[in-house]
Amino acid sequence: MENTILSVENLTVSFDGFQAVKDLSLSIDHNELHVIIGPNGAGKTTLLDIICGRTKPSAGRVMFGGTDLTKAAEYQIVRLGVARKFQTPSTYEDLSVLENLEISFPRGRGVWGSLFFRRTRPVRDRITEIANQIFLFDELDTKAGKLSHGQKQWLEIGMLLIQDPELLLLDEPVAGMSPREREQTAVLLNQISHGKSLIVIEHDMEFVKQIARKVTVMHQGALLCAGSIEQVQRNERVIEVYLGA
Ligand code: ADP
Repeated sequence: MENTILSVENLTVSFDGFQAVKDLSLSIDHNELHVIIGPNGAGKTTLLDIICGRTKPSAGRVMFGGTDLTKAAEYQIVRLGVARKFQTPSTYEDLSVLENLEISFPRGRGVWGSLFFRRTRPVRDRITEIANQIFLFDELDTKAGKLSHGQKQWLEIGMLLIQDPELLLLDEPVAGMSPREREQTAVLLNQISHGKSLIVIEHDMEFVKQIARKVTVMHQGALLCAGSIEQVQRNERVIEVYLGA
């Protein structure tokens, strides 16, 4: 319990009477890399939408530290340390990698204050460290628009890391990536989990095997099974759902 960073408790989400998430409970530990899998329409995206405050549930709560996130606004949840990466790209194409990272640095007091602050040594050091971590150190001056699809995804992760969140929510981070980029992303996510928690929605089972220590399988809004990748792969209900038996 002490080690829990996030607990989803009896969460139900209805859209005009249709239950997209049904009485779902799960918890995430500090430094845990938790993968959520499940067929289309299982409610995975809706769960992330609830955690980041984009959608409100009809029942249940999501505790993060002492705060019920279902009662907080999106901007407050970001400030509390929860960062979400969406599937749609959100880098500034005409700005360099360095500038994209700079503008993502949490704002100081006032525009001028924060501009000055962003050019200081500790900020530069942090940007260098993150650029290294996301494999883009040699691309600091490259415009984001010139990066490969995979590099752009890493830059977006870097733009979240620079805000130093405690929990990252990633929606299919390796979609469209080359095999080599997938491998590098597995390294990156494992590294991030030495100090932060992650919830990753993923379809690519080979990638899931590389990163997950704990997997939750959702089906029709409910929790089907949770455990290690081996436990989940052996579960008969999971096999039925995936093979459509
Ligand atoms: P997944 O991410 O697992 O594919 P989603 O969370 O996107 O699943 O969707 C779960 C179900 O909820 C789907 O049947 C979807 O059509 C429905 N749904 C999601 N968002 C809305 C919405 N805003 N209004 C109505 N139905 C929605």
